[in-house]
Amino acid sequence: MTSGRRSVEEHEQHVAELLGPLREKSPLRVPLAHALHRTLAEDIESPLDLPPFRNSQMDGYAVRAHDLASIPTDLPVQGVVAAGDTVAVLEPGHALKIMTGAPVPDGADAVVPVEDTLSPDPDTVTVERSVTPGTYVREAGTDVRKGDLLLPAGTVLAARHIAALAAVGLTSIPVRARPRVAIISTGSELVTAGSELGPGQIFNSNGPALAASATANGADVVTIDHCHDDPEEFVTMLRHAVGVADVVFTSGGVSKGDFEVVKDTLGPRGGQFVSVAMQPGGPQGTAVVDGVPILTFPGNPVSALVSFEVFARPALRAAAGYPPVVCEKLPLTTDLTSIPGRRQFLRGRLDENGVTPFRGHGSHLVAGLAAADVLLDIPADTTSLEAGDLVKVRIL
Ligand code: AMP
Ligand code: MG
Repeated sequence: MTSGRRSVEEHEQHVAELLGPLREKSPLRVPLAHALHRTLAEDIESPLDLPPFRNSQMDGYAVRAHDLASIPTDLPVQGVVAAGDTVAVLEPGHALKIMTGAPVPDGADAVVPVEDTLSPDPDTVTVERSVTPGTYVREAGTDVRKGDLLLPAGTVLAARHIAALAAVGLTSIPVRARPRVAIISTGSELVTAGSELGPGQIFNSNGPALAASATANGADVVTIDHCHDDPEEFVTMLRHAVGVADVVFTSGGVSKGDFEVVKDTLGPRGGQFVSVAMQPGGPQGTAVVDGVPILTFPGNPVSALVSFEVFARPALRAAAGYPPVVCEKLPLTTDLTSIPGRRQFLRGRLDENGVTPFRGHGSHLVAGLAAADVLLDIPADTTSLEAGDLVKVRIL
């Protein structure tokens, strides 16, 4: 077992190397219905023109613009074209009633909106405003042409991208593989929400929180377990986890107490347990079991989530093909002091005046964490800052 003091940057580097291979998973095809929040593995060229055919942008009358030289003009109505009809042919000097999305008839070059017409009888339309050729006609291929780039590789698919892929008729698409994540919370005091709390017990919040964080950052959470501070039980869960996941996150059991199940189990198996110069989240560990990397986070809920944020999130995002986390520099609204030699991640709130750190620093304050929308990232060598100073901020 390796132990010692590391800077945040050194541990980040170590974790990045350990989780680097997650990025090399082969792409796969998924149905469009499963594509939301996935990353396109290849450029997608449009297999057809959009719109696929010339169609009307309005409910109105398809006409030849030059038949409207004088206004108002009465034109005989030749018939009706609805959306879904085949292409009709417009006779000279006539109008065809047309609905939005219906094919513009051959011979017609413009659509007069219904609002600019009167209908003295069903067979006649009085056009009250002239139109130029092309008015309210959506030409084929004016959105995208067959063979043109529809979406580039690397696009993280949102609803608008799904719309474009569906519009060109694609049913499945090539996407990057998601890293498969297993989560094991440790602690004999933990119970799963849904059961009664006995004396000395608390509900497991790290399991659901880490699972949510992993999912939000492009991972597939394949198992969420929790175990007592019992090495045998932990090893059994770990065996299962490394069998189904590409990376395992654990919480708890890495400090200096008497029952540090994670450290005591993985330490003798080549794990590295170190103290990282940060607060919260100082005790960190890594191990590799059956070729699968394991990151071990401390158990306090704030420490566990800050650890995820700093160490796991960048690697998961890179593996999923998500853009890197961007930190902003924003002004402080108050003075603050910070411990020398430790990089501090302070919970805070963001408003139009800047960022305000919370007063309570306890790493157990899980309800307080929910009230934070940013982490202020204070460098290890900074001991005090004044209102108005710019600080690095991670948006949560
Ligand atoms: P540990 O790192 O195991 O010493 O745990 C530190 C603190 O975090 C203790 O107060 C634990 O009860 C608490 N804790 C550990 N794991 C969890 C969890 N999964 N959910 C909520 N609190 C936890
Ligand atoms: Mg514990």
